[in-house]
Amino acid sequence: MSTSDVLLEPDPLSRAAVAKVVARIGADRAAVPNAIPVRDPHDDSVIGYVPDLGTAEALDAVSRADAAGRDWAATTPRHRADVLRRWYDLLIDNADDIALLITLEMGKTLADARAEVTYGADFVRWYAEETTRHTGTVREAPMGGARLLTRRVPVGLAVLITPWNFPLAMATRKIAPALAAGCAAVTKPATLTPLTTLFAVQLAVAAGVPGDLLQTVTTSNAGAFSNAVLADPRVRKVSFTGSTGVGKVLLRLAADNVLKSSMELGGNAPFIVFDDADLERAVEGAFNAKMRNGGQSCIAANRFLVQDGIADAFVEGLTERLTSLRMGSGLASGVGLGPMVDHNAVDRLHGLVDDAVGRGAKLLTHGRTHEGPGSYFGATVVDHVPADAEVATTEIFGPIAAVQRFSTQEEAVTRANDTEFGLAGYVFTESLDRAFHVADSLGTGIVGINQGVPSNAAAPFGGVKESGLGREGSAEGLEEYQEIRFYNLALR
Ligand code: NAD
Repeated sequence: MSTSDVLLEPDPLSRAAVAKVVARIGADRAAVPNAIPVRDPHDDSVIGYVPDLGTAEALDAVSRADAAGRDWAATTPRHRADVLRRWYDLLIDNADDIALLITLEMGKTLADARAEVTYGADFVRWYAEETTRHTGTVREAPMGGARLLTRRVPVGLAVLITPWNFPLAMATRKIAPALAAGCAAVTKPATLTPLTTLFAVQLAVAAGVPGDLLQTVTTSNAGAFSNAVLADPRVRKVSFTGSTGVGKVLLRLAADNVLKSSMELGGNAPFIVFDDADLERAVEGAFNAKMRNGGQSCIAANRFLVQDGIADAFVEGLTERLTSLRMGSGLASGVGLGPMVDHNAVDRLHGLVDDAVGRGAKLLTHGRTHEGPGSYFGATVVDHVPADAEVATTEIFGPIAAVQRFSTQEEAVTRANDTEFGLAGYVFTESLDRAFHVADSLGTGIVGINQGVPSNAAAPFGGVKESGLGREGSAEGLEEYQEIRFYNLALR
């Protein structure tokens, strides 16, 4: 038994505050009859409704964004920077309401939701700054007689498709660089969590983003949406964050019109702890890398690879941290673990634990599943997990810590890289030499060195292998929305 027997209940004042926000974005029942219901995973109650838009409306959104995009592309970088900065200020001014909305529609704790607002808003601030900084190049032609100039121009209309796990940050990580580069955009939030995106877009318009430039399409038929909009020749870019399976479908669609494509896909992050690691630091890093967002993060530690000499102490420390968590509504005070996003997620997690135990893994603690409404799954630790168990080969996306043990550095690196994914990896050691050797050997786009939460708006986030294409955040993230134009200037 780990997380509390009694679920923590939400503070009624928070529920009332959310109802006001839902009404403010026009997502209450009266405003949107017969539409997609959005549920609170704590008790499955409906908190709002969004329109279920079809392909005709999606193509209308493309037309509007395309028309508005021509003027936006001609604005100055300073103008775009000022608008984005005002949007950042509005996101921060409304941080409490946004956090409530995130918690209500997605389930994460209010503390995690507040952290997401800070993280998500930071992309808007970063790109407000970055848009006035990007540069071109000038080279002498090697044989003389010409100057070779490059400049960056907006790629054109972008389609942005986002997942449910970070409803604000995954949206701002795409919208901010798209607008900064001078592009129009059509966003499609996840069906489970559309309210946060609608609110954020409303604030963007209040900040001065032209109403038609940034379109949001909510739909229950994502396949029909992508088939229609990605076939439209006015669309020039697709940026997707979500599962690798859907990413491959979108890449195939993108191929038909040769769209510039960014794909932020699934992960299977190894978290390597060496005998010489600082135990306290490793446990703290593991806790953060595993439990942020209830484990529902693409860079969450998926496989704990722990060296024999430190393994018992590390497993004991991590288990202690996880069993101390109180489970309940993300709006309750003192809560450490909210509900999973839906019941499918809970069923999948049970299947992963059963499979691991069936293959010989040792179950150290299994968070109780709550009886009744709400999609709860408590923090769970399985040790001595065989490398071929599903919990080790697939993305867990939940609060299961799966531990494997190793003897040598070479073995750790080989096992860490034995996956089709390559998003994030972690290494914990007090040896600088080993830290760099291992980090350099990992086949991932991101490495946390003695650090469980590596993401930063100023750094390029993204994966290799089947974890994706392209980067988000940093200067590289702006380039995803730009083309390079080259001028050959003849000299007499
Ligand atoms: P998902 O792939 O099911 O859905 C993501 C988005 O794609 C949603 O908006 C969904 O409605 C839409 N979608 C589904 N089918 C579609 C189709 N045929 N055409 C167009 N859109 C379609 O993923 P999810 O369950 O929402 O999110 C979890 C996944 O996202 C995990 O695999 C996670 O690793 C990944 N993720 C990756 C990153 C990253 O930066 N690499 C960040 C967050 C989440």
